[in-house]
Amino acid sequence: MTDIELLIDFHVDAERQGPGSDADTLKALSFIDIVQSKSLKIADIGCGSGAQTMTLAQNLEGKITAVDLFPVFLAKLEKRAMNLGLKDKITTLEKSMESLPFGREEYDLIWSEGAIYNIGFESGIKNWKHYLKTGGFIAISEITWTTVTRPEEIDKHWTKEYPEIGTASGKIKILEENGFSPVAFFFLPPSSWIDNYYSPMENRFADFLQKHGNSDMAKMIVKGEKEEIRLYHKYKDYLSYGFYIAKKLPG
Ligand code: SAH
Repeated sequence: MTDIELLIDFHVDAERQGPGSDADTLKALSFIDIVQSKSLKIADIGCGSGAQTMTLAQNLEGKITAVDLFPVFLAKLEKRAMNLGLKDKITTLEKSMESLPFGREEYDLIWSEGAIYNIGFESGIKNWKHYLKTGGFIAISEITWTTVTRPEEIDKHWTKEYPEIGTASGKIKILEENGFSPVAFFFLPPSSWIDNYYSPMENRFADFLQKHGNSDMAKMIVKGEKEEIRLYHKYKDYLSYGFYIAKKLPG
């Protein structure tokens, strides 16, 4: 098993592959005034095993294209959709988020929770914007500093992990400079990290290590996650995921 396959294996059976909750998804959706329309075209980019895809499908009329680079996540998502009777509303697409086969102005809504960091917030916004109709919406969750300054330990950790980590005003500026008008912004609460992401993850550590015979790589993954969790608990006043909702302007 390659390192990346091992990492996927660690995450694939989780409800979510990042911080979030049904309530967060619904809150973001509440700011989007096209949701009453029938036959919306929605893209959910970096969908993982599809926690937010299910919530979207249960609360929107239309068709969702759920995109991820890794087929094992998409297989899980399809199973979930089947179990919830949502299969007709969701199509999966195994593609990279940086080279999507979408048409110009094809979508009413582009959704992406905890995934845009894979190509960087700014690059993602610039790239995906073309697929969105004028007046269409983008809803993105992205790791964000909650304060302008912070202790060095947490600053160093996340700047190394994701050099584009910034404050909400910086992210909103990027949206504005790229033809979007901000509609809403909020931070995810700690429960979306702890109850929905880190606690379930901690419960998987022992089985994961056992399954992979305590291999060095498996131990490294667990060690890395444990350190991230430790830092989160110590410094959660300084960072969260921000949810950014914005509308595409004409031109
Ligand atoms: N939205 C889900 C998953 C977030 S984790 C949730 O919140 O639970 C980030 C996801 O992005 C993973 O499923 C990962 O497989 C996917 N991903 C990583 N690089 C990608 C790429 N280049 N293109 C598409 N998806 C990618």
